[in-house]
Amino acid sequence: MKSLLGKVYLIGAGPGAQDLMTLRGAKILEQAQIVFYDALVNLQMLELCPNAKLVPVGKRCGKLSTAQQFINKQLMDATKKYQRIVRLKGGDPMIFGRADEEISSLKRSGVEVEVVPGVTAALAAAASIQNSLTLRGVSRSVAFVTNATALQTQKSATLPNAETLVYYMGRKDCATIAQQLIDGGRHQCTPVVVVESISLPQESHLFTDLDSLRQHGLEGWGQENAPTILMVGEVFSRAVSQNRLEDRLCGEVNDREQNLVALSHGRRRA
Ligand code: SAH
Repeated sequence: MKSLLGKVYLIGAGPGAQDLMTLRGAKILEQAQIVFYDALVNLQMLELCPNAKLVPVGKRCGKLSTAQQFINKQLMDATKKYQRIVRLKGGDPMIFGRADEEISSLKRSGVEVEVVPGVTAALAAAASIQNSLTLRGVSRSVAFVTNATALQTQKSATLPNAETLVYYMGRKDCATIAQQLIDGGRHQCTPVVVVESISLPQESHLFTDLDSLRQHGLEGWGQENAPTILMVGEVFSRAVSQNRLEDRLCGEVNDREQNLVALSHGRRRA
């Protein structure tokens, strides 16, 4: 027998730009009656669902389980009133998106769920700087990593040994991450690319290495609260050396008084 409850679609909104959402996601969004959206979702995406009731359920870096439980409850309540419910999540719902908690809570109550993938920040960042995350002879493995944990007491995971590492939610901890990687055996000159606000007009890039990041963090660079990805690995060598060289050349002409951070990091605005 067909359930009387509405169906919930977990849709990946992609990294920010409206046209980086899948066609499938956009079509479902257009028909949505109610949309619960994350803080990371660019508000332009909501133009794609002109007839839906909009409910912000943002929780950036506030990993309170009660907040998650409240979202689960809101979704459940919506299934009793609406037939097409969208839960719109930044990037891909299945990467650091807490999708499992929402899916299992809905399924336990007999609600039908469909997941529509999205472009995760790591892949959008690689595309943006035009640097593959894998490279023949250099990197055969990629890990999506975070040091962020749901509970303060939880120990952070052991260091992944993939050749290319992409850190999510690492902005505030970037100096610690760099130190951990050096302590764990990565060379201090290992290239690092930091990408902020991927696919949005304010996107910017920083080309550096583990040692500089360990010493300076992201001091004086970018916007403190902007979503940021850290990418680490030899696969970024060429991009980092090219950008640092360009930066130094232009720095010599334009500004001989650059500070230490500016000299030790190569920086680019997209
Ligand atoms: N599900 C999302 C990730 C959610 S965790 C995805 O697949 O992309 C939130 C983290 O994702 C942010 O702290 C940041 O590290 C990264 N992120 C998401 N959107 C981003 C963007 N536009 N630019 C840079 N990093 C982004």
